[in-house]
Amino acid sequence: MVWIQVWSDPNEYIRSEKITSVSYRMAKTAAGQDWIEVVAEPMGRVILQASVRAGEIPRAGPGQKSWLRLVDARARLVMREVIRIISDQEQHSKMVSLHDLVIPDFEQEVPDDLNIEIQVWNIPCHHCHKETPVVYPVGAFFGYMLEFNFLSNLPRMLAEKYPFFKKAPAKETDAGEYRNTCVHCGEPQPDWRVMESYLEITNTPSLVTEKAQITVPLTDEEKIEYRKAGITPGW
Ligand SMILES: [Zn+2]
Repeated sequence: MVWIQVWSDPNEYIRSEKITSVSYRMAKTAAGQDWIEVVAEPMGRVILQASVRAGEIPRAGPGQKSWLRLVDARARLVMREVIRIISDQEQHSKMVSLHDLVIPDFEQEVPDDLNIEIQVWNIPCHHCHKETPVVYPVGAFFGYMLEFNFLSNLPRMLAEKYPFFKKAPAKETDAGEYRNTCVHCGEPQPDWRVMESYLEITNTPSLVTEKAQITVPLTDEEKIEYRKAGITPGW
């Protein structure tokens, strides 16, 4: 049994065995938007406020979703620490302030860029049927198979290196997206054809005509995803 100090009233303590569960919610504090508070149930008393160090919430877009996922992941980490402390036999009959004991380790080294392996091979053009080179990134990122437009900086960098990889003409519905285009007739090759062919060449690696590494700088949003996914730079 541990006596847990109540956050809002430092003179009040809760007996740990009376706590049936803990939950978290966003804290309304001037200290920042990334503060959570941990609530002891069933008494509904706040026993800890902590910053999950996610920064301010992005205004809109995919960054906002990433931010919420990051906050949730870290809040769970904080709650795990809280539960560990309140059920710790070593703390038996002590009066504890969680603020002094919960020091979650959020910070993982997040690289500024990722090394991506890319492969080049030939496929028959969708339009003129002549052999034309295509380029595709290899591997996975956050468990997803890599796609051209997954890392924001990747398509532009591929286009600089491989002239046949360029933006689709404006008449296309997905104009602005980079595609492998035929070196003979200039037609963009549909992504599904490149993907299909990619799956074939994984079984026949001798068909790969070029392998290269490119270093792709991560955007701030991608860094948040990266941190959340907790993957190591050497994947
Ligand atoms: Zn062609």
